[in-house]
Amino acid sequence: MALRTILKKDTDEESLRKKSRPVTVFDKRLHTMIDDMIDTLKDSGGVGLAAPQVGTLRRIVVIEKEDGTILELVNPEIIATAGEQEGLEGCLSLPGVWGVVKRPMTVTVKAMDRNGNVYTDTESELIGRCFVHECEHLDGILFVDRASKILTEEELQQMEEEGEPEPGSEEEEA
Ligand code: ZN
Repeated sequence: MALRTILKKDTDEESLRKKSRPVTVFDKRLHTMIDDMIDTLKDSGGVGLAAPQVGTLRRIVVIEKEDGTILELVNPEIIATAGEQEGLEGCLSLPGVWGVVKRPMTVTVKAMDRNGNVYTDTESELIGRCFVHECEHLDGILFVDRASKILTEEELQQMEEEGEPEPGSEEEEA
């Protein structure tokens, strides 16, 4: 198990803003990179991680689904989206920062596995949101660029204490 250091916007914004290059060689080195990214993601408690977040400017994303399944996406491309969702989003590179971001509800990606085999996957809600968030990392885009509102951890806590419904939720106050 090897953990990589997750770059933070505060100190490493220049790296995080760079565009990642496609993966062209599917060798042992790529497999080690993907395994390290999975270890790092699991250790972080996050949902998704893109290679530029650990300082490697290659188009690689790993995602952990709610049931523990790991998705490995090499050279992912979003090929279709449907619907819309608005909700809170965070990022391992911006700890303690949350934003209200509008994303498609359902997202289809075309990607390669670690051996270069092409596949497509369609996911909704959290993982659909994650597909877009992680793919944007590969182009140097951060969720704060997309957020209609930014909240600090304190503001988030305060909002929860006040019992306000989450932004974007359909709930009405009783
Ligand atoms: Zn992120």
